[in-house]
Amino acid sequence: MSARGGAALLAVAALACAGCGGGTPHGKGDRAARPAHGQERVLSAPPARALDRYASELGRSHAARVAAAKRWGLAEVPLTPPAPPARKPTLETREGFEVDGHRTRRLPPVFTTVPTRQRVVFLTVDDGAEKDPAFLRMMSELNVPYSAFLSNYLVKDDYGYFGRMQDSGVTLNNHTLRHRFLPDLSYKAQKREICGMQNVIEKRYGKRPVLFRPPYGDYDRDTLRAAKACGIKAVPLWNAEVFADRWEYREWDRDIHPGDIVLTHFRGKDDWNGTMPDMVRRFLKLVTDKGYAVARLEDYL
Ligand SMILES: [Zn+2]
Repeated sequence: MSARGGAALLAVAALACAGCGGGTPHGKGDRAARPAHGQERVLSAPPARALDRYASELGRSHAARVAAAKRWGLAEVPLTPPAPPARKPTLETREGFEVDGHRTRRLPPVFTTVPTRQRVVFLTVDDGAEKDPAFLRMMSELNVPYSAFLSNYLVKDDYGYFGRMQDSGVTLNNHTLRHRFLPDLSYKAQKREICGMQNVIEKRYGKRPVLFRPPYGDYDRDTLRAAKACGIKAVPLWNAEVFADRWEYREWDRDIHPGDIVLTHFRGKDDWNGTMPDMVRRFLKLVTDKGYAVARLEDYL
């Protein structure tokens, strides 16, 4: 090695060490390590203390996730989702899900999967019958995002439960006032069902939803016209459904895919062979085993 090469290596070593918080030329204990003269502009690494803090926060949050996974009976820690896309994907109505004049009338898109290459899925929870406090705790402690689609006749006996959900970062979306089979109703009656729920959510929770899911996933052109008139921008359906004891799939391959929307319900032992935490365990086990993270639907729409 030439003398010149050695000097260059030393300079690199000094550079690397300037931000590392270890021994500096100024001696031990000098925690606020400074770059050598002339290198201040080159070095953009944060000072050692900030790095230490960042590392310990990362460690703490990871440790917290490991502990939460163990506490809630998960074999694996859920994967951390990637940063949401800087440019939101263009949503198209899934083939076979269009109504007459869907495009020309600019009706809200109806889809079951969000177009993305990221290995993420989205969890959506419908109706609102079961109000299990353990579900709220579990999702907060595991830091797993989800979106709620609420029907007023089921949530009205305890608006507070869904208020706490909203406080934990969950978006509350529209699933109509009374969960009727909408295609049987007139345009006016459908509009009452949808706009009425917009008003309830706005009054109770301070925000008018932009996402709407028709009960049973059934709709006609009047549904989408009414939804649009009520301020709805998108109609996410689902590509798979998870229960406390099983999965059901829309597609022949019986699998999940990047961007798939997964449906489940606020239900418990009255309707299911298990509890909401049982459902979450079943959901996360398959998702994590297949290498997917759970992302926040609203970040992609
Ligand atoms: Zn429903």
